[in-house]
Amino acid sequence: MMGEQREKKLKVVTIDGPSGGGKSTVSRKVAAALGYTYLDTGAMYRVVGFQCKRAGIDLTDAAALSGLLEQLEIRLLPPLHEGDDVRVLLNGEEISAAIRSPEAGMLASQVSALPAVRAKLTALQQEMGQAGGIVAEGRDTGTVVFPDAAWKFYLDAPPEERCRRRVAQLRAKGQQVNEQALLAQIIQRDKQDCERTVAPLRMAEDAVLIDSSNLSAEEVAEKMLAVIQGLEHC
Ligand code: C5P
Repeated sequence: MMGEQREKKLKVVTIDGPSGGGKSTVSRKVAAALGYTYLDTGAMYRVVGFQCKRAGIDLTDAAALSGLLEQLEIRLLPPLHEGDDVRVLLNGEEISAAIRSPEAGMLASQVSALPAVRAKLTALQQEMGQAGGIVAEGRDTGTVVFPDAAWKFYLDAPPEERCRRRVAQLRAKGQQVNEQALLAQIIQRDKQDCERTVAPLRMAEDAVLIDSSNLSAEEVAEKMLAVIQGLEHC
């Protein structure tokens, strides 16, 4: 894309792709290198999934869901330790650890197919990014949330590779993992995210595709920064 056109776009980097492709680590690195704020949109869907489960909300009950969404005040804060996930406050209560389990990921995927949930979170994300200076990570940040973003990436890798990485991450946090069950969950979550009618996971037409299979997070971030700085063409 020509430099001039790029100037007119929102100073936002979007990084989308399926779960476990290394998006979070890469997004944090790219945000740090650019001095941008990292926006973890998945954390917001995890909060809604967590809260629906905790409040025993029937997901087909539109009034109950809408009541829950109206009460929702989500704050994302930088982690206490570098490299950790963002801290998440729901109505002032810290639920950072509770939303990171594979089960919380599945709950997030279920609620993320609901139009009312997407409308609410998309509006919040757009508000957070309206001034630019954001690296947004998720499934639809380049297609729906920030269609005018200046730089869009789609990070992919085969499910087995993504599962291997996720196992290593969870084990490093001291969690017990059943690899077979996790792979099945990853495949199921991909299917749900790709097949939903509202904002399904897909690559934006103007996104740069990167397969992270044989690349470290550092290498992926370097590739992205080279594109952003105009050293490498899309
Ligand atoms: O990225 P993360 O694994 O935290 O996302 C959890 C779930 O939230 C995803 O599986 C997806 O269903 C949903 N999500 C979404 N749109 C986004 C970010 C996440 O639908 N922009």
